[in-house]
Amino acid sequence: LRIELQRVDRLNTAGGLAASIAHEIRNPLTVAKGFMQLIQNKGENLSQEKIKEYLEMAITETNRAEKVIADFLSFANPSVENQSLINVSDLISMACNIMYSYATLNNVSINKNLEKGCYLITDENKLTQIFVNIIKNSIEAMPKGGEIDVRVFKDKKNVVIEVEDYGVGMTKEEIAKLGTPFYSLKTSGTGLGLMVSYKYVQILGGKIKVESEKGKGTKFILIFPIYDKAPQEDTNG
Ligand code: ADP
Ligand code: MG
Repeated sequence: LRIELQRVDRLNTAGGLAASIAHEIRNPLTVAKGFMQLIQNKGENLSQEKIKEYLEMAITETNRAEKVIADFLSFANPSVENQSLINVSDLISMACNIMYSYATLNNVSINKNLEKGCYLITDENKLTQIFVNIIKNSIEAMPKGGEIDVRVFKDKKNVVIEVEDYGVGMTKEEIAKLGTPFYSLKTSGTGLGLMVSYKYVQILGGKIKVESEKGKGTKFILIFPIYDKAPQEDTNG
């Protein structure tokens, strides 16, 4: 059973986002503060072991707050200001390099199949970030390691970027929740990566499709209208 969904303007209805972000930052800070206060008030009566445990909890929660802020900051300026002619295969190749250490640490190798002559007028940073978020999820979908296939190709009207993993996969219900702020099935996830990505794809005039099967894997497909006045020397090979 293959499932396919398109969902790009979910974020238009995300009123109250600032409030929920504040909530997601305040919660872990409150917890972290609580553990630090415990140490401050009862420090003399606590074993070294307990103190260490409380400090670890405080650090974990502070890290969580930091992640939420980092993910959200990247989302704070959703206008398209820096559009330029981008060679998509070069951009994706660079982005794979960015993710190389994370992939290697997780025993994941990335196979690249990048067609030449795929040009877009787009925002380089935003497109990179979309792709990095998706590939990061693909790596995390394979806790025992594995392979990811990344493809860039063009048809008459579009440049298509595919990221396919052979990891945990998703049910129809799970796919339907993608892009919702704070939707995450991970213990230390923020649920903001795809929110940001879905919004950026919309801003850049593209579409996202997701095909996934529980236990088998997932394919993210990004589709952008091609820039068809590509430099000649780069289209034949
Ligand atoms: P986070 O990665 O912090 O959990 P995201 O917005 O990036 O937040 O992803 C939201 C959720 O979507 C993930 O927690 C995961 O459950 C699901 N998901 C995203 N990509 C994949 C994938 N490639 N395979 C399986 N599940 C995925
Ligand atoms: Mg993520």
